[in-house]
Amino acid sequence: MKTCYMVLSALAVIALLEPAPGFAQEATAKHPIVVHAARLFDVEAGKIVTPGEVLVEGERIVAVGTSVEHPAGAEVIDLGDTTLMPGLIDAHVHLFLHPGAEDLQTVEESVPQRTILATLAAKADLMAGFTAERDMGTEGAGSADTAVMRAINDGLIPGPRLRISGNAVDLLGGHEDANHYNPAQHVLSNADYANNADEIVAVIREQHKEGSTFVKMYETGPDQMVAGERAIPCGGNPICEAVGLGPVAGDPEFWNFHSPYQYTEAQLKAGMEEAARLGTNVGVHAQGEPGTLYAAEAGVASIDHATQLSGETMRLMKERHIPAVPTFTIFEYFAEHAPSAAAAAREHAMLDYKIHEFKRQVAAGVPMAVGSDVGPFPHGTQAKEFELMVQYGMTPVAVLQADYLNGAQILTWQNSVGQLKAGYYADVVAVPGNPLEDITAMERVAFVMKGGVVYRQ
Ligand SMILES: [Zn+2]
Repeated sequence: MKTCYMVLSALAVIALLEPAPGFAQEATAKHPIVVHAARLFDVEAGKIVTPGEVLVEGERIVAVGTSVEHPAGAEVIDLGDTTLMPGLIDAHVHLFLHPGAEDLQTVEESVPQRTILATLAAKADLMAGFTAERDMGTEGAGSADTAVMRAINDGLIPGPRLRISGNAVDLLGGHEDANHYNPAQHVLSNADYANNADEIVAVIREQHKEGSTFVKMYETGPDQMVAGERAIPCGGNPICEAVGLGPVAGDPEFWNFHSPYQYTEAQLKAGMEEAARLGTNVGVHAQGEPGTLYAAEAGVASIDHATQLSGETMRLMKERHIPAVPTFTIFEYFAEHAPSAAAAAREHAMLDYKIHEFKRQVAAGVPMAVGSDVGPFPHGTQAKEFELMVQYGMTPVAVLQADYLNGAQILTWQNSVGQLKAGYYADVVAVPGNPLEDITAMERVAFVMKGGVVYRQ
């Protein structure tokens, strides 16, 4: 309470002294702040420290430990029986999507309308504790995410630190194209078209010009579960028949899931080389073989959804430290909110398959990151992903380290976010109790500081 009052009073002073523009909602405190709680999560050690203190000056952390120096004039924020943690990272969000007819948002809603909703989504995510996010595509709102990111960075609106991709990159007639509508209506794709290596490079340059800070490519789709064909070796999949990529020899159930690849390994590499030239990386939507294998061979930054990974793909991901981003929350949400019984059965079959494969991936040592695919389900509720990853086979410590360390790696902020460490951004949250004993605590974030500014207490 004390902090809120002090920040507000500081703002009131700013409002009096500065005639214009006065839109900034927050200001970094001029005085040092010591945040104290019963516990603190040491990410690298994977341990809880008791008690925990973080000294913050300006937008950065100065010191961390069981007790830190309390400089003269420091404000102390005592958060009681909570655990201090770094701000949460969501490696897969869509600020420009909201619950409802996902693909028809492009048709029914204008980009200005969707941008207003995106600013509310950014605020909801931040208030839930997510201080850094990778937005995996505006899905038809083009580079409008540039405006949202800049408004956040300028302190005009509250929101997480963002990596943004603009529209994603997709094939003509591919995963995000508006297939099967009346051709005479010329319904637009939700992504930017690129059909070969030269077009991939050109699209990435255009997206970069418009403000994107990484590249998202659709590597597989559409997805299909082949039910009731378990007696058919390899489920009829020709790649399985030819090279036997299944993680276990003679494992026909592995091929009950089908998702055709979109880009060859060489085409993915062309995109990655252009992204590297621009100082960034490529994340892919890739759900099935051989697309997931092509992505692992190319060495992308992350393989998102990662439902079907062959033995060779898992081996490469472990060796090259390429995280999978399972996005369980969206699969569960679609299974529970399907429009018909038949659709529900299909979504549940896919979720069951995914859970089965995830356990195999965890056992194989595939690195994981935490990404929810929030947007089609309500923003601010995505910490459910932590709970589901624990439910399906990871320990709470492993999930938290996956979020913070691998998430920061994917967002290429590994030296500034994801840890409570001197020199890192003062992105600090607190959750009730001990999240290593009850991971659902991550869904009840009680305190949010980003860059030294308190947004929630
Ligand atoms: Zn997504």
